[in-house]
Amino acid sequence: MGRIAVPQAGDLPRSADVVIVGGGVTGCATAFYAAEAGFDTVVLERRDGLGTLTTAASEECFRAQFDEPENIKMMLESIAVFEDFAAVIRIPGYDIDVHQRGYLFLTAEEDGPELLKKRVQRQCTLGLSDVELLDGDEVRQRFPFVGPTVSAAAFRARDGWLSAHELTYGFAKGSSALFALRTAAQGIRLDAHGVAAVVTERGEVSTRCVVVAAGPFSSLVSSWAGVQLPLTRLRRQKVVLSNVSRVPPDAPMTIDQDTGVYWRPEVGGATLGWALPEEPSEPMERVPTDWTFPAVVLDGAARLVPFWSQAAETLTRDNVFLTAGQYTCTPDHKPIIGPWRSLPGLFFNVGYSGHGIMASPGGARLLVDLIIDPNADAENPFRSGRFAEAGASVRAEGMVI
Ligand SMILES: Cc1cc2nc3c(=O)[nH]c(=O)nc-3n(C[C@H](O)[C@H](O)[C@H](O)COP(=O)(O)OP(=O)(O)OC[C@H]3O[C@@H](n4cnc5c(N)ncnc54)[C@H](O)[C@@H]3O)c2cc1C
Repeated sequence: MGRIAVPQAGDLPRSADVVIVGGGVTGCATAFYAAEAGFDTVVLERRDGLGTLTTAASEECFRAQFDEPENIKMMLESIAVFEDFAAVIRIPGYDIDVHQRGYLFLTAEEDGPELLKKRVQRQCTLGLSDVELLDGDEVRQRFPFVGPTVSAAAFRARDGWLSAHELTYGFAKGSSALFALRTAAQGIRLDAHGVAAVVTERGEVSTRCVVVAAGPFSSLVSSWAGVQLPLTRLRRQKVVLSNVSRVPPDAPMTIDQDTGVYWRPEVGGATLGWALPEEPSEPMERVPTDWTFPAVVLDGAARLVPFWSQAAETLTRDNVFLTAGQYTCTPDHKPIIGPWRSLPGLFFNVGYSGHGIMASPGGARLLVDLIIDPNADAENPFRSGRFAEAGASVRAEGMVI
């Protein structure tokens, strides 16, 4: 079979060093680093193409502006990969359409300037020294679209967005792994030594190492090995607007720090979103949309950026596209990366809680290091065992995108 293809009868390898369940950005990045490390790697993806579930629903943004050292470290590593992607995958000229136009966090709350100041100072002590703290006048001078109520902002110019589709396929094309499309995993076979094989609709693949990277379906796949992960799924919607001339094409990703609503330019228009409260849901192949959402988001975006009120008045139904996917969330909103210590051969790369595009290189590289040396998991901040160790005291960093 071709390396990224639907296997014909008898084509699926009967064994592999590493079998990855899921061909989204996480599975493909993992396959890249696993193959780089010399593992004979097979990715099982039940859909027609790679990166067509949550990965395709995303806003495709990346930022290093986090609060916790392990997040900052992982994102800085990942952004360095995005900046040099063609060289990393060794395909000259390969383009993932990186736009480093920055991430701009705005506040109009009374305590907002102080909160942003503390955050930027903390980031500086954690090695993220290129975040600018701006007062209201400075931010309006730099970004004239910002409204009069904004009193402070944090801005990092090297944050931005990219093409999640090209990123996913770049990892696949740049690796020697095999990507079996329309090939659903259906079970994990265990023996006295741990993981023994992955059962698929096209037969078994023997392996001593399986990586669960099945996005919203990761709880289900993990349950085949008798493991219950603390994952929940939350619907998140995305509004794409075409023909909105008021959106400055060079604007950064702009976030209302006080409410969480965000937007950024997209060719000829913009894309917007807002992590509004949702009930946890079951994993879904098709996530339903709610047509009240675009008006709610536009109203939210207009709070600090006035042009959104005027832009909303000129929109017609034909300009508005609405999609949805599911965040796969952990209690502390950080991913679960690494081995399941009590079952040799079972590994997770799951639960990115809304940050799976931006973290994919750093998370996948870490996972492969842990396949090579599972004992290093003791020092791994994303280890699966942290929830049991911390009891109920895990703290979640903000859920903005
Ligand atoms: C609206 C929205 C906006 C977002 N914006 C951003 C953003 O700006 N930046 C960012 O970093 N992140 C963002 N995210 C999050 C990001 O999209 C996800 O974290 C990321 O795509 C997760 O990738 P994944 O490969 O883990 O999961 P998925 O892309 O869901 O891939 C999992 C794959 O596993 C396959 N699979 C499942 N079960 C099986 C099985 N039994 N056998 C074979 N295959 C199987 C599925 O078919 C699927 O292709 C956003 C998410 C949403 C919903």
